[in-house]
Amino acid sequence: MSTELEELYQEVILDHSRRPRNFGALENADVLVHGDNPSCGDEIHLGIQFGPNDTLAEVRFSGQGCAISQASASMMTMKLKGKTRSEASALGLAFRDLVTGGSAEQSSSIASSSPKLGDLQLLSGVRKFPQRVKCAMLPWRAVEQALSQSAGESTVSTEL
Ligand code: ZN
Repeated sequence: MSTELEELYQEVILDHSRRPRNFGALENADVLVHGDNPSCGDEIHLGIQFGPNDTLAEVRFSGQGCAISQASASMMTMKLKGKTRSEASALGLAFRDLVTGGSAEQSSSIASSSPKLGDLQLLSGVRKFPQRVKCAMLPWRAVEQALSQSAGESTVSTEL
């Protein structure tokens, strides 16, 4: 493993992947999205229960895969819980910019312009590894899909 890659697996990321938060089936989910990243073998099953005022009252996930995908999902659920649909959508765009955006030299300025992302900024290192970007983005693709519907079940893939 290269030094650069080791930097990806920081303590917080490992902690989230080993003890994922909001992990398990959501019994009363309004929307259930199955996300698949065939290039790495990651899968997540995201359940969202919508509450009053268009908020994401409950967000849970289950699944399996690499540390990046599971940590990204874990941190994401913590971040999204209680947010409105539009706030969740904005966070998704900010996260996409974070992991796909410019060079490492620009990372500090990008990070400071997206303070809302909090711990999720730790995943910014994946931008140097295109395959890992898919891992980090998988749960967010599932959210993007979930936000486009108000009920039901659907499937997303990083290969589409
Ligand atoms: Zn992965």
